[in-house]
Formats: sequence, structure tokens, C-alpha cells
Amino acid sequence: MSTPPEDQAAVLRHRAEAAVAKMTNPLRPGADAEQTLHELLVHQVELEMQNEELRRLQASIDVERARYFELFDLAPVGYITLDDHNIILEANLTAAHLLAMPREELAKLPLGRVILPDDQDIFYLTRKKLLADGAAQTCELRLLKSDGSFFWARFEVIPAARDGDQGDFCRISITDITDKVKIRQDLTRREQEYRLLAENASDVVFRSSMEGLIEWVTPSVSVRTGWTPEQLVGRQLRDLVHPDDTDRLAAAQAGLKDGIGFEIELRIRIRTDGYHWFSVSIRPALDDAGTVTHLVGGWQDIQSMVQARAALEMERARLRATLDSLLDPHVMLEAVRNKQGRIVDFVYADANEAACQYNKMERARLVGRRLLELLPAHTSSGLLDMYRHALETDQPLVLNDFVYPHEILAQDRRFDIRAIRVGDALSFTWRDVTDRYLLTQKLAASEEHYRLLTTNSYDTAIRIDDVGKVTWVSPSIKALLGWDPGEWIGRPIADFVTPESLPTLRTNLERVVHGEPVVARYLALAKDGTAHWAESRAMPYINAQDHRDGVIAAFHLIDEQVAMEQKLEQRARTDELTSLLNRKEVFERIEAYGGKHPRTGQAIAVLFCDMDKFKIVNDTYGHAAGDEVLRVMADRIRHFLRSTDDLGARVGGDELLVVLHGVHDLQNAVAIAEKLRLSAAKPIAVPAGTIRTTVSIGVTLARPGEKTEALIARADEAMYRAKQRGRNQVITIET
Ligand code: GH3
Ligand code: MG
Repeated sequence: MSTPPEDQAAVLRHRAEAAVAKMTNPLRPGADAEQTLHELLVHQVELEMQNEELRRLQASIDVERARYFELFDLAPVGYITLDDHNIILEANLTAAHLLAMPREELAKLPLGRVILPDDQDIFYLTRKKLLADGAAQTCELRLLKSDGSFFWARFEVIPAARDGDQGDFCRISITDITDKVKIRQDLTRREQEYRLLAENASDVVFRSSMEGLIEWVTPSVSVRTGWTPEQLVGRQLRDLVHPDDTDRLAAAQAGLKDGIGFEIELRIRIRTDGYHWFSVSIRPALDDAGTVTHLVGGWQDIQSMVQARAALEMERARLRATLDSLLDPHVMLEAVRNKQGRIVDFVYADANEAACQYNKMERARLVGRRLLELLPAHTSSGLLDMYRHALETDQPLVLNDFVYPHEILAQDRRFDIRAIRVGDALSFTWRDVTDRYLLTQKLAASEEHYRLLTTNSYDTAIRIDDVGKVTWVSPSIKALLGWDPGEWIGRPIADFVTPESLPTLRTNLERVVHGEPVVARYLALAKDGTAHWAESRAMPYINAQDHRDGVIAAFHLIDEQVAMEQKLEQRARTDELTSLLNRKEVFERIEAYGGKHPRTGQAIAVLFCDMDKFKIVNDTYGHAAGDEVLRVMADRIRHFLRSTDDLGARVGGDELLVVLHGVHDLQNAVAIAEKLRLSAAKPIAVPAGTIRTTVSIGVTLARPGEKTEALIARADEAMYRAKQRGRNQVITIET
């Protein structure tokens, strides 16, 4: 850099002044006047020469300055020069134009007047810095225009020397940056908005360097992970990722440098316990030139979603396993709809193992197939309509024994079908019941056969096992005794007979179990608690393997028959008028005792009674009254019978017989006979009046081994004697 002309002039002046000072110094001893003069001349010449040089320099400086001011005025940037009091010394045309003020007015104006009050400090601080380090400074501030409006200006402040003075002058270039500031403000505002959005988002938003270094992260990160943003900033994203997931992250990140973003599910370490699943999306952020400057990403907490998904998958797997383990086929039929939304077909969306087997098709081949393509008869059979109806009305479809001409099996098959709507599909299961149907048909035929047999049969059939438990009983038991078959089955047959029938039942069961058929009568219990006579024919049950297996019996009720029999029996044994035993019966009974030896000190006594003058009773009161007297006499005799062994009988028209067991001796028998005689003498009231009659009694004791006829004859004989002695008395004949 060459020395400026002003400086060169100053050097010369200094030298000349030094020469003059030397010349005039009286203290310089030995100074030679001539030499001094010479030096002065030399200086004179030099000064002249230098003055000439100075003039030339001045001229060139003036030219430079003019050129400078020309440039200064025409520059597209505003220029002003300030003195050390910040008063504007000069301003170029552009500056005047920017401030909308004539140039002349600008000069001498303190710069502070054109700076917005709020921004004054900015300028003074810049000025101060300039003074401090001498280097150019910049600042941005708002300048007032003369019309009151303002604009954003950028100041570039440089120190300026003026006329060799090194004071605090400065020159400022002014650029209007209003548009730029506006854009920048807009950008900041928008950035703030986005940041607010990001900070308030529940998801985590972050920015990282290209290398994955987290630079900024939304506060929501602490809610999601427990980490504070401060703990994360400066860390590598991959350090937070589960070791098993880092490879996937690295693979996804590979595309970032080419500007390709990604979304990936990762486990991210959370502060408290282990890892949480997050959906991490990362996009490269590009600058205007299309260069990737940093990365922007988001983390979405999907822990509960992943858990729910896992649970769902587990559920799905369980369902799959369940479906596949089902013996019945199961398919999902998804509706196929036309443009109008009408169901026109179904498509197999899923099929379990059994369904694949039934259709003789692998799952991969079956799933995706159209129903009508596989089983076209769905249209003609009406099944399609039914499926459609089930789906549209949400009414489960229940079909039993539906006949379908199965295309794959090439024959008519019967099906039980169940379908339930699930979304726009039917959960569909079926069972081929053809075999069951055929079997049922067969069974029904044989059941019908047996039903006819049992309905028309007189008997109720029953099966009893070896220990006497009922294993089956025909339903007619209900009509017979009021029991439901179920009430008999599993219970001992002994529960259904009266206690008096039990011994017979037990013995007979034993006999049948051992192979012997038995016909017997039991008193069976009806459900209402009444007992009924049943006649049963029982025989061993021989099963299909030819083994004896319990007992089979048929029985029917014979109450009426038994009653009839009992009546007949009664009639044969008793006298109809008095209900006492008849002659034949009493003789037989005495005969039965005949062989038996009475217990020590005991005997059988026979009291032969004949009504006295009974003809007269009949004649006087009528035959009916006579009958009544006979009935009363029978009752009075019954009163003297002490055990079932004692017998009362009517052996002739007015002849009544009493047989007493356990009498000690004849005297004992006579005492009883006396009592009976007195009892018989008591008056009897009949409609026609009161009858007083008496009885003659012959008494004797039975001899051991004696014939009945002989015994009765002796008693008769004794009675005859009583008649002869005047009637109404007791006569004995000793044995
Ligand atoms: P006694 O024995 O004292 O010599 O005189 P009696 O009148 O009883 O004569 P007897 O015993 O010989 O005759 C029995 C009579 O009993 C005959 C008959 O009139 C009457 N008699 C017999 N059977 C019945 C009967 O079933 N009903 C009625 N009311 N009377 C009968
Ligand atoms: Mg008589």
C-alpha cells in the first residue's frame, strides 16, 4: 500500500521545519554560516520541488474524490458518513431516497432522528463495538422515513478518516432488508407454530443430525418414555433402541441419505422399566438446494396397540387351533355383493381342517373360492337365499336335516347347518347327518315295530340286572302304575313292591338269575302309594353274545282277578249270612289240627250251639228277623274268638259251632260256654220288636288223633242232651 499524498506532504513539512530550526539555533557552536546558507538553499529547492509535487497530488486527489462522490451518489446502497457525535455529514442519493428526505436536509441531521426509538440502542451498541475493535460491524434496525413509515435496514458500519483526522467518524452503508425480515419473521412465526404443535402433540417429535444425534425433542417425550428432553438431546437414537431392533433401524436408515424416509416399529428403552413399542417415522429435511441437512421424526407409542395385536394374534391362533380341532367342518363365508350392494355369492374366507377334508380340498385352494363356483346348487336349493337372509337380518341360520345334492360328493346328503353373521360374513358350520338319518330311519322302523308290539301287548316289559336293578322298563309303566320309566331305571326293583312281596321277589329273582323262568304275583307299588297285584313272567335275559345278562320280565296288573279269586275263595269258605266259616271249611280246619299235638296242658274245645225254638222266632217275627238274629249271634260268637286259631262256623240252619284252642280243661271250656250262653240270651232289637231267645250248648274236648266227625258228633250229642234237659243250658260230654 503506498503512502497517501497527505502523509507525504506532512513528512516534507516536518523536514523543512527541522532545517530552519537548525539554522537559527544560537547554541550550535562552530556553525559555519556559508554551509548553513547552502543547506537552506538546498532546502529551498527541495521545498519548491515538493510543493509542485503536492499540487499535482492535490489535483489527482480532487479527481479521485469527484469520482468517489459520483460513485457514492449512484451506489445502489445508501451511504452516510457520521461524525463522532453521530451527526450525518454526508449522505448519498440512495440514502436520501431510502429515508424519503432531500439530501440537503439529511446533512447535519443527527442519525438518532431517523432510527426508531426502540432500535436506538442497537445502533449505539454497534457504534461502541466499532470504536472498541476498529473492525467493520453490522446491525439490523428500523429507520424512519419522512412520511412516518419505517423500513428494516441493515447497517454496515466502518470507521472513516476525514481529511487526515483520525477521529471517530464512520461510514455506514444502508440496505433495505424489509422484505427479507418479513420473510424471516414469517418463517419464525410458522416455525413457532409448528413447534407449538409438535410440543402439544401426544406423539414425540424430534430432530436429529444426519448422524442420528438427537438435537431437539418435544416435551411429550417424558410422558411417553420418562426421559426428559434434556436427557435425550445429544444422544444417538440407536442407543435407545432395543438391541434386537437396531439392525432393522440401520437398514431403514440406509435410504435417508437418498432422501427416502421410513416408518418402522421399534422397541425404545424407557426410563423406568425396559422397552416400549413405538412406531418411529423419520424423514430427511432438505434445504433449498435439495441437500439433506438434518432428520425430522416422530415416535408414536404403540405399546398398547402392539400388546392388543399380540393378544389378538394369540386369540386368532387359539381360534385357529380350536377350529382345526373341531370334528365338524367350519368355514367363514364372506358376502360378495354387486354394485347395488346385493349379495350375489359368497367367498370362502377361511376353512378349518374338517371343512377342507369334507370338500376334499386343501385350505389354500378352498380359501378365496366362490361358493357358487364350488357348489352351484346353492341357488336352486334355496340355501343362498337363506344365507343372504341370515346375513341381512342378523338372524342365526338353523337348518336340520336339510337335503342337498352335494356336487363334490356327487350324491344327495343331509345336513344340519348353523350360520351366524360376523361382520359381512357368515361363520358357518355343518354336519353331514346322512348316516345318522339312515340309522334313525332303521331304528325308527324297529322302534315302530316294538312300539306296536308293546302298545298291543298286554304286558309291561322290564329288564333287571343280576343284582336286581332296573335297567330298562317299557313306557307303558306310566299308564300302569303312574311312574315315568326314568324313575324306575337305575333303582332296585325291590323299591317298587310292598314289604310283604319282598321275600317272594328276592327268592324268585335268585331263581331266574340262575336260569329258571318264574311266574309269580307281587304287590306292586303305584306312584300314588297304592298297592296293586301284578303277575310277572320272568326269565333270564340272553344277550347278543349269547350270555345270560340279568332278567327280562313281562308283567301286568291282576287286581280284578285277585279280587274275584278272593271273593270266590271267601264264598267257598264262609257262610253268606253270618260270614262265619261254613261247615265244610270248619271241618277241614279241625282236620288240619287233628294231627297236631296241642301244647302241654292245652286242649281244643268244641262248643256246639243250637238256637232254642227258632222256628217260633221265624214264625213270630218273620224270616228276615230270624236272619238278623242269626247275624247278631254270629257277632256275639266272634267276640269269644281270641286268636286266629279260634274258629266260628255255621254248620246248620240254626246250628253254630265254636272251636277254641288253648283251653286248659273241660271246666275252662264250660266257663266260656256259659258266658256265651248268657251273651246269647241278651235281647235283640229288630224292626218288629225285641226278640229274646236262648241257645243250647254242647261242650267237649278233642281227643288226640280223633276224627273230626267223631268230635263234632260228641259235641252235637252234648247239645242234644241240653235240649232234652230243657234248653238254654250248657252240657258236656267227657272225653
Ligand atoms: P229246637 O231246636 O229248640 O228243638 O226247636 P226249633 O224250632 O229250633 O227246631 P229245629 O232246630 O229243629 O229247627 C230249626 C229251625 O230253624 C227250622 C227253621 O224254621 C229255622 N231255620 C233254619 N234255617 C234258617 C234260616 O236260615 N233262617 C231262618 N230265619 N230260620 C231258619
Ligand atoms: Mg233249633
